[in-house]
Amino acid sequence: MDKNELWNRCLELIEERVGKGAFDLWFRPIKAKQMKEDQLILEMPNRFYREWVEENYSQMINDTVREITGRDFDIRFRVSVKQDTEEKRQYAQFTQKKRALRQRGVYLNPKYTFDGFVVGPSNAFAHAAALKVSESPGTVYNPLFIYGGVGLGKTHLISAIGNHILDKMPDLKVIYVQSEQFTNEVVSAIRHDRMTELKEKYRTVDVLLIDDIQFIANKTSTQEEFFHTFNSLYEQQKQIVISSDRPPKEIQDVTDRLKSRFTMGLLADIQPPSFETKLAIVYKKAELLNIVVPHDVAEYLAMRVKSNIRDLEGCLIKLAAHSSLSGLPISLEMARHALRDMIPEEHRPITVDRILKVVSEFFGVKVQDLRSKKKTKEIVLARQVAMYLARQLTDLSLGDIGKNIGGKDHATVIYACRQVEAKKAQDESFERILESMIKKLKEG
Ligand code: ADP
Ligand code: MG
Repeated sequence: MDKNELWNRCLELIEERVGKGAFDLWFRPIKAKQMKEDQLILEMPNRFYREWVEENYSQMINDTVREITGRDFDIRFRVSVKQDTEEKRQYAQFTQKKRALRQRGVYLNPKYTFDGFVVGPSNAFAHAAALKVSESPGTVYNPLFIYGGVGLGKTHLISAIGNHILDKMPDLKVIYVQSEQFTNEVVSAIRHDRMTELKEKYRTVDVLLIDDIQFIANKTSTQEEFFHTFNSLYEQQKQIVISSDRPPKEIQDVTDRLKSRFTMGLLADIQPPSFETKLAIVYKKAELLNIVVPHDVAEYLAMRVKSNIRDLEGCLIKLAAHSSLSGLPISLEMARHALRDMIPEEHRPITVDRILKVVSEFFGVKVQDLRSKKKTKEIVLARQVAMYLARQLTDLSLGDIGKNIGGKDHATVIYACRQVEAKKAQDESFERILESMIKKLKEG
C-alpha cells in the first residue's frame, strides 16, 4: 500500500466517523506527504489546520491508521506553506515539550496552562482551587473534584495543575489519565494477569489527575480498582484530582462508597461563561494563535457561540484557516459566511413592525399610513393583509393587533381576516403574494 492509497482509505473511514461537515472542512484538504517504515507525514494547508486537527483528531487518525495497517504509526503533521521563523520556533518548542512529557510517561497537553486560562465568574472558584492544589499538592483539598458541562475547561484546568507541578516540582510523579484509558488498563491487566504492575503504577504517584470520571459508571472492576487506588493515595497524602461532567451524586451506577470518596475534599463546578468571559477567551486564543481579530468579530463570536468554549475556539481557528488560505484579513463578513454552518443565522422574531414593513413594500404604501385611520382603497386592503398576517404569524391577541394597526378594535381584525381569506380563495395571484410575504417574514 502506498501513502496515497493508505490515506484515501483512512479518509473514507474518517468521513464516517466525523460526519460530512467536519470532514469537508478539516480533512479533505489534507494530503499524505510521505510514508516510510512506521512514519506517516500528513500535509496541511496551513498552521491552523494543523493546530485544530492535531489537537482534536490525532488520536482518531492514529486509531484509523492502525485499523487499516494493523500497526502503530508515528504520525506527523506538516504545513505546506512557508512559515515564518517565529511560528516555527513556537511549534518546535511545543512539540519538544510534548515529547519530553511523553518520555516521562506523562500524557499531558503542555498547552493547557494556568497562563492560558481566562478566569471569569463562571470558573473563578474552580480555578482558585486548582491553583491552590498545584502549589501544595496533597495538603489542601483532597480530592479536588471539578465538574461542569462539555467544553467548559475541565481538561484544561486539571492539565494546568499537572503542568504547573511538573514545572515547579519536577521530581514529583504525575499521571494524567482519562477514565476510559484507566478502564482499558484495568481490563488489560486483569486479562494478562498484570494487576501488580498496575497497582505499582497508580499507587506510587504523587499526583493523580483523572479526567471524565463519569465513564467508569457501570464498570465494576474498574471502580473496585479505583477505590483501592484512591484509598492508598489518600492515606499517603498524595493529591487526587478528578473531573466529571456532573456532580458526584448525579453519576449513576457508581458505588456509594466511591461517590462518598469523591465528596471528601472539595467540589468545584464550572458554569457556562458569560459574554464578557467569552470575549476575553476569544482575545486570549487570538493572542496565542498570533492572529488579529477585529472587535466586531470577537463580539459576534462571543455573542453567537452559546456556551461551549471548544466550539468558540473551533470557530476562531476556522476563521484563521480561512483568512490564511484566502490572504484576506478576518472580518465580520468573512465570519458570517465562513461560519454559517457552525453558527446558524438567528431567526428574527416576527413582529407587527416587520409585518407592516413587508406589507408596505409589497403594496407600495407607507408604514405610517397603515398605522393611521386612512381609508383609501389600497391602504384598506394592505391594512387588512397586515392584520391577517399578524393573526397568522404572531401570538398577539385580536385586540392588540387592532391597536397596533390603525387603532382598530378586535371586531375589525376579525372582519379583515375574513376579507383576506375570501379574496385568497378567489384570487390565485393574491394568494401567491400572501405566500411570498409569509416566506419573507419567516426567513427573517
Ligand atoms: P472540557 O474538558 O470541560 O470538555 P476543555 O478543557 O477540553 O473542556 O476545554 C475546551 C477548550 O476550551 C480547550 O481548548 C480549552 O483551552 C478552552 N477553554 C476552556 N475554558 C477556558 C478558559 N477559561 N480560558 C481559556 N481557554 C479555555
Ligand atoms: Mg475534557
